[in-house]
Amino acid sequence: MLPQEVIRKKRDGTSLDSEEIAGFVRGISDGSISEGQTAALAMAVFFNGMSSAEAVALTRAMRDSGNVLDWSGLKLDGPVVDKHSTGGVGDNVSLMLAPMLAAAGAWVPMISGRGLGHTGGTLDKLDAIPGYRSQPDIDLFRSAVREAGCAIIGQTEDLAPADKRLYAIRDVTATVESIPLITASILSKKLAAGLDALVLDVKTGTGAFMAGADEARALAQSLVDVANGAGMRASALLTDMNEPLASCAGNAIEVAGAVDYLTGEHRDPRLHAVVLALGAELMSLSGLKPDPPRAAQTLQETLDSGRAAERFARMVSALGGPADFMERAADHLPEAGIVRPVTAAEPGTVAAIDTRAIGIAVIELGGGRRAATDTIDHAVGLTGLARLGEEVSPDRPLAVIHAGDGESFEKAARTIRNAYRVGCVPARASPILERITEHRA
Ligand code: URA
Repeated sequence: MLPQEVIRKKRDGTSLDSEEIAGFVRGISDGSISEGQTAALAMAVFFNGMSSAEAVALTRAMRDSGNVLDWSGLKLDGPVVDKHSTGGVGDNVSLMLAPMLAAAGAWVPMISGRGLGHTGGTLDKLDAIPGYRSQPDIDLFRSAVREAGCAIIGQTEDLAPADKRLYAIRDVTATVESIPLITASILSKKLAAGLDALVLDVKTGTGAFMAGADEARALAQSLVDVANGAGMRASALLTDMNEPLASCAGNAIEVAGAVDYLTGEHRDPRLHAVVLALGAELMSLSGLKPDPPRAAQTLQETLDSGRAAERFARMVSALGGPADFMERAADHLPEAGIVRPVTAAEPGTVAAIDTRAIGIAVIELGGGRRAATDTIDHAVGLTGLARLGEEVSPDRPLAVIHAGDGESFEKAARTIRNAYRVGCVPARASPILERITEHRA
């Protein structure tokens, strides 16, 4: 069918069949369908949505636009799994969960992204490690997975290239915030990575892209349904982003936080709860440990025994980073020139946090991008972030700012003061709000 006829059908609210969708996606990949036609279809989907069957067809077609990894040749003795987060602030879960799962018997080829909007990206964090090759060729990726049990890298050119083109067009045509398009974009890359099972961490709250719980739940359900429809086991946890997950945010700073977590030096309780819940969900889903409480216990043992820390060290070294990274992380990671606290205007209890603004403060410091071409200062960021319900005073600052210069320090300090509301004691729930599983109506 002609591309304009496919666009017309979707514009008029009629469902597309899988052949029409596959043909359109082939045209996006080979350039025979123009940017204007792609944008028009994206806008038609934005307004008219897609059925689950259409979203499955779109996801499959985008998966098949490039290579689909096959791990069977490596004769791995456990399931191939991954976790995906919709993006948050102080969310360095992947850095710890990948080596914990590897130490527990899973294989984790994790394809991660760069920072998007106000949220941090796992890839930008790993780029703070000198020598770490976050964009290796496929042979190095495979050998790192074989060597360490886990490898975290960026999307390669040949994994779901249709998504790359479509995403770039959506980004500049106000069509990013569409549940079927987000679903197909995320899952096409995960399916191309050849996974047996996937757990999705869908954030809700002031620091999430889908701030409202209803929208976040709808996205989670769509991700789970479409993953299942495309033949991959998946479930989702809805988790709270009304405060940063870790008590720190930034690139080198979150890597240092991950090292402290893995070695047992420091573990933020809310972060630890989310790491264990996502890991247990994935181990249960993949059949590695069907009982989630026992799976959580196994994951805890990977920390207590030092095996997870050892897997992280192996991954860093296999991908070109320093062999002694775990022992001397502070010597290897960059440090900011200015490290100074920011205090609240008045002492009191933290009643609310605009978590998105905390992410913006990291960008203002140079730790994130304003434009795609910006380079990042990996050293900057925030530590010691005050939590909801915590008392702040001149002795207990809102945060410690790591800045490159005085001007960016002052700007970030203003943003952080405005992000915190000091007042009465807030109601504070568990960070894990809901579990969304397969086959729910
Ligand atoms: N992340 C993706 O990979 N794709 C989207 O569409 C949104 C977030």
